[in-house]
Amino acid sequence: MNQHPETTAITAGRPKVEPDASLNPPVVLTSTFHAGGAIGYGRYGNQTWSALEDAIGALEGGSTLVFSSGMAAISAVCSILPVGAPIVASNQGYSGVMSLLNSFHESSRLEVRFVDVVDTAAVTAAMKGAALLWLESPTNPCLDVADLETLIATAKQMGIGVAVDNTFATPLVQKPLAMGADIVMHSVTKFLSGHSDVLMGSLSTNDPALLKRLQDSRSFNGSIPGPFECWLALRGLRTFPLRFNKSQENAKQLIARLSAHPKITRVRYPGFGAIISFEVDGTAEQTQKVCESSHLIAHATSLGGVESLWERRRRWPIESPSVPEQLIRLSVGCEHVDDIWNDIEGALASI
Ligand SMILES: *Cc1c(COP(=O)(O)O)cnc(C)c1O
Repeated sequence: MNQHPETTAITAGRPKVEPDASLNPPVVLTSTFHAGGAIGYGRYGNQTWSALEDAIGALEGGSTLVFSSGMAAISAVCSILPVGAPIVASNQGYSGVMSLLNSFHESSRLEVRFVDVVDTAAVTAAMKGAALLWLESPTNPCLDVADLETLIATAKQMGIGVAVDNTFATPLVQKPLAMGADIVMHSVTKFLSGHSDVLMGSLSTNDPALLKRLQDSRSFNGSIPGPFECWLALRGLRTFPLRFNKSQENAKQLIARLSAHPKITRVRYPGFGAIISFEVDGTAEQTQKVCESSHLIAHATSLGGVESLWERRRRWPIESPSVPEQLIRLSVGCEHVDDIWNDIEGALASI
């Protein structure tokens, strides 16, 4: 029987068991290493990174590299594509990725074909001659779900590389490498580390040649994480399944209550996970006021931590105009669900 992810999150990335070996990996704070070994210098490797990479790799089912942020991980994928390479990407997704891809498109670094990922036929048509299919599902912040199995299988038949941003779903919900994807990306900043105290990214793959190219990109662009941050992320990862399951349970309970609230016109939830997007029956200003009127839920961007957070996504000028002005993205934390709900009700009463 395969080990369950709850167990893997706790057991992976530990030092070898021997008398007086530490249970946890040490924080290896060094810029260089004595000559003659496999690492050599602190930009090429570090034992604390490796411990975290082993743990994320065990959860995703592939060899893993950690990066200084999720954006650094995405940038590494883009960096190995030839100049002008056509890539297919969602027309609605994480705003940093949208901005990065738009700037690459404008400068002709890449030819980005933006598509609606829910429209499998449109994505398939756009894939002709492409080098890479970049998928994010569920999408941020509208939580649209792509048919990953079909899209990945089609891309592979066409000989196109596939990378999946698995930040929202996490390996507890979907495992893109097992579906045939070449790369799985995470903003480790979010659910995997889970305490809103570290920024980090990761890439996982089962292709040794691809791993080497991505590793070279990290080494020579210097997009490496700090050893202490890796230690924090691994500490957080130990409870990732516990936290995710609790947040998901809270989210499922909140769906029913939000859907029945007279001041809410639409609730978006893909059926799994801990992110809910809902629309307020009011103006952008009123929606903004709701976000500013919470006491327990932090009014902040980001997601995937133990603490509930929310924000009106359109407060960011870089957010896509296709996202409604009245949309609030709520990252459901691990507090008691009744306390979260009381806070939501109170904030909605402010308008
Ligand atoms: C946050 C996020 C990113 C970017 O990650 P950083 O760690 O902030 O650089 C990419 N994709 C998704 C879906 C995210 O939520």
